[in-house]
Amino acid sequence: MGQDVILIGAGIMSATLGTLLKELVPDWNITVFEGLASAGEESSNEWNNAGTGHSALCELNYTVEKPDGCLDISKAIKINEQFQVSKQFWSYLVNQDLIQNPKDFIMPLPHLSFVYGEKDVAFLRKRFEALSNCPLFQGMEFSDDPEKLMEWIPLIMKGRNANEPIAATKTDVGTDVNFGALTRLLFNHLENQNVNIRYKHHVDHIHRTHGGWEVKVRNLDRGTVERHTAKFVFIGAGGGALHLLQKSGIPEGKHIGGFPVSGLFMVCKNPEIIEQHHAKVYGKAKVGAPPMSVPHLDTRFINKKKSLLFGPFAGFSPKFLKTGSKLDLVRSVRPNNVLTMVAAGTKNVPLTRYLVQQLRLSKEQRLENLREFIPSAQIEDWEIVKAGQRVQVIKDTATGKGTLQFGTEVISASDGSLAALLGASPGASTAVSIMLELIGKCFPQHLKAWEPKIKEMIPSYGVQLVERPELIDQIHASTAKGLGLR
Ligand SMILES: Cc1cc2nc3c(=O)[nH]c(=O)nc-3n(C[C@H](O)[C@H](O)[C@H](O)COP(=O)(O)OP(=O)(O)OC[C@H]3O[C@@H](n4cnc5c(N)ncnc54)[C@H](O)[C@@H]3O)c2cc1C
Repeated sequence: MGQDVILIGAGIMSATLGTLLKELVPDWNITVFEGLASAGEESSNEWNNAGTGHSALCELNYTVEKPDGCLDISKAIKINEQFQVSKQFWSYLVNQDLIQNPKDFIMPLPHLSFVYGEKDVAFLRKRFEALSNCPLFQGMEFSDDPEKLMEWIPLIMKGRNANEPIAATKTDVGTDVNFGALTRLLFNHLENQNVNIRYKHHVDHIHRTHGGWEVKVRNLDRGTVERHTAKFVFIGAGGGALHLLQKSGIPEGKHIGGFPVSGLFMVCKNPEIIEQHHAKVYGKAKVGAPPMSVPHLDTRFINKKKSLLFGPFAGFSPKFLKTGSKLDLVRSVRPNNVLTMVAAGTKNVPLTRYLVQQLRLSKEQRLENLREFIPSAQIEDWEIVKAGQRVQVIKDTATGKGTLQFGTEVISASDGSLAALLGASPGASTAVSIMLELIGKCFPQHLKAWEPKIKEMIPSYGVQLVERPELIDQIHASTAKGLGLR
């Protein structure tokens, strides 16, 4: 018998969609196919992403300076609202005892933006003034007083040139999220809900059948090939999604390409230094750097242990997954997207050059970058680890052919029977909003009936929170209680 739903990939996106669907329609049968041996091993793994609960509290690239000098904060508002949606859903799951021990996946952590030099200090002040008028960002503080900054970020301030203009903003409602742990918790929960989860099962092909889709799956242990059918398929394969979308043959998946960006973190090995920092501190991206390579110095909570990571340093690798193949990029070029890819290649020569240069940096050169944050950093205290791959979407837009996109995109078949998630930013933090958007696109016929349950799980569903300050306060209070963020 065919399935109601097949989810391809066991990352945070499939975990979120599966969990939402099990709450909305418990009797639908769902099967998950994952090529690796367990859940959350690719981008969603705690060592492969930066674990920032993105809510635009500290990420300077979400507030863009317009040519007239004003700041556009609309992106910051959107991302903050999306994170409130995620927190409400996770809080609902904890309150219902569907997942336990929220401290294993989310921890309160101050979020700071930190800049130096007159121009950037002026920018940060302007950003602070624009955001502090908005109810979503209440409680944010600004300081350019070295003594105050010494209190907030002693490790960053020690040994710094006292004559340099310097400033930071700080808010205490930030979070560090272990998306790997959350993904595993959600898959354990799905297993308890009789979802059939098949690890070491790689999906090779997808094609349409009467009334749905057939996926061709390779059982990697036995070396056998299986065929499974479903009415609805979600391609939640992260960097592997583009290839599968292309194989599905849906017209919506044509003229789209992928641009892979690799990442590296510097991880602190010295417990004395780790103890001197307690925050996520985001700086300003260097000229020419893509937005996802904004440097930040992050306290992280991984395996119940406090850690300190710096990065990510972006780089270039033709792989679409960390465990992928060097031929991934070449294989993604099809007759229908070759012009889009060529246009993107021509336009993004400086970005590609920047990424290749970044890749070639020696450990000493990376240390110089780190010293902009920790002037006293010593090479022996840090090691380099490989982060996950991000595949940015390339598509033809009103601004031209082959435009590189930095967000995520849900691509779905016109009849709603298949959807894929492409892109990686702001990513896991906004997984719940993205999957609700997907549900709206793919199951419009059920939405009215499902709405009361969605509102029970996510009280701000369908509401522009920025216009409802009293609801923001309620949500902050209830999610802080549910997730232990006080
Ligand atoms: C360096 C870096 C830093 C980041 N920092 C943050 C951050 O601070 N905050 C944030 O919110 N987000 C961040 N992100 C983004 C976030 O990690 C991703 O958006 C998110 O993890 C994507 O989840 P996913 O489920 O789509 O993909 P993944 O977690 O990659 O899961 C996809 C799964 O599909 C499987 N798969 C692929 N192809 C197949 C196939 N053919 N058959 C079967 N299985 C298949 C893979 O093995 C994998 O397990 C970061 C990403 C990177 C790379």
